[in-house]
Amino acid sequence: MYQKAIYDEAIRRIQERRISAQKQQETRTDQIRAKIPEIAELDRQLRNTCLSLAKTFGTKDCKERIKKLEQYCESAENMLRRILVQHGYPENYLDTQYLCPHCNDTGFVGGKPCECLIREIGMLGAEKLNAQSQLSLCSFNSFSLSYYNNLPPEEYREMCNIFEKCRSYAHNFNLHTSDNILMIGNTGLGKTHLSLSIATVLLQNGFSVIYDSVGNLMHKLEMEHFGKNSDGNTLDLLLECDLLILDDFGTEFVTSFTKSMIYTIINSRINAEKPFIVNTNLVEEDLQEQYGNRILSRLFSACIMQFYGRDIRQQKRIQQNRSQEART
Ligand SMILES: [Zn+2]
Repeated sequence: MYQKAIYDEAIRRIQERRISAQKQQETRTDQIRAKIPEIAELDRQLRNTCLSLAKTFGTKDCKERIKKLEQYCESAENMLRRILVQHGYPENYLDTQYLCPHCNDTGFVGGKPCECLIREIGMLGAEKLNAQSQLSLCSFNSFSLSYYNNLPPEEYREMCNIFEKCRSYAHNFNLHTSDNILMIGNTGLGKTHLSLSIATVLLQNGFSVIYDSVGNLMHKLEMEHFGKNSDGNTLDLLLECDLLILDDFGTEFVTSFTKSMIYTIINSRINAEKPFIVNTNLVEEDLQEQYGNRILSRLFSACIMQFYGRDIRQQKRIQQNRSQEART
């Protein structure tokens, strides 16, 4: 049922774009008419011609007059473009600037859904899924490298590198050329924080991102697969979104169903050149034991980021306790 709601909402958003593009065009026209009297006059003449033509409908020479009007419109249009350029405006300044040039923000091309409509449906589906996520978005600004200060210099440098790589990944994200990332390291070292900071930047830039723990997503897929929630389309969304973030990989309950789902998701995304980020607390041997070589070899083809440090949440708690003690 919610898929229909998503479809209706996507159509509503696209219609809103169309109305907004038309309103902007009207505003530009009013502005130009006030600024350039020649254009206001051209506009007036054009309207008068249309009115006089309307009166001749049904008469003998109707066809002839329509032809003349078309010629007149064409030359008026050319003149209008010339005047705009003379006044320093782009020649298409008074055209309606639709966001989608394929469908002029109608959502359909030749009766079929336009790619912008399909994309909007995907964005809305991802939003809906993320609303049920166990995770909340983070930002690079709230990530502090000071928690890694006590590490040996080479490990500290590596953490600085990882931070910079993640920031650059987020800001230079490209659907087909961005790497897959595998973040490895103990709990509380910042893997989730950095992944969700990447998600925040991508969402701000209009990409569709899905982020959740693997356990939560697998539970949804199971419910849909075994018919307890038959109207969901989680698998499609996981395969189609621009970036998929799978957190806490390895803590889910592994069954033959989850193994096959994980393989399908990772393999399909690699084949479709759609990036993913996987975070895990497990070491390579444990991953191999849990998922086998087939999944492991696909996972380890990603760019690997090894996290170092002491549990940040634990460090924060110690700091809080110390400052409380100092106050009392
Ligand atoms: Zn379109």
